Amino acid sequence: MKPHEITKDIFVVGGPDITDSRDGCIYLINLGELILIDSGAGWSVDKILNNINKLGLNNKNLTKIILTHCHIDHIGGAPEIKKRFGTKIYIHKLDAPPVEEGDPVLTAAKWYQASFPPTPVDVKLNSPEEIIRIDDKEIVCLHTPGHTPGSISIYLDKDGKRILFGQDLHGPILEEFGSNLEDYGRSTKKILDLNADILCEGHFGIYGSKQEVKDYILSYRRQYGVD
Ligand SMILES: [Zn+2]
Ligand SMILES: [Zn+2]
Repeated sequence: MKPHEITKDIFVVGGPDITDSRDGCIYLINLGELILIDSGAGWSVDKILNNINKLGLNNKNLTKIILTHCHIDHIGGAPEIKKRFGTKIYIHKLDAPPVEEGDPVLTAAKWYQASFPPTPVDVKLNSPEEIIRIDDKEIVCLHTPGHTPGSISIYLDKDGKRILFGQDLHGPILEEFGSNLEDYGRSTKKILDLNADILCEGHFGIYGSKQEVKDYILSYRRQYGVD
């Protein structure tokens, strides 16, 4: 896969087969200002920024990084991007402490033989559904715990399509991450009910029809025995 526009103004700019095998997928929303969804594991910041440039967008407009949860493969690039452009970091309040403390276990940095510096969070999301408004557009952040206590799923409705950024919907569900299977069951039900047209997933790429999105989520619900 190459960096490309998935649907108007929504881009994939990084991921395991684009920037670095250790990166989760990195998506970008262009609403005049640029909003990054996740930031890779930290080794590929220059590549991500290059990809954004190549798509004809200006990195100086990177105003927000929304982190879907506190794992290194999603948060690793955020401190450096924040340093270069003053980009504000958003994460759910329950996943903020590992980021702010640089916790090697809860960020999974230990697994990746990485170190993550304690990094201040600018905005802590704290309600079941939080809306980030940019002009007349709404980016909705849904609290969807399961994989981690503060995992979120993000969606926006644009040009008649609902685009969902689900990231680690596949899990894993692990005690050392603070995962919770009951929460996972409830959260994935909520996500299914969104009836999204496009799923931008955290490691396996993009699912481009309602049916594919549904099948993908259902397959993991079955695997974890919550369906
Ligand atoms: Zn994760
Ligand atoms: Zn991940």
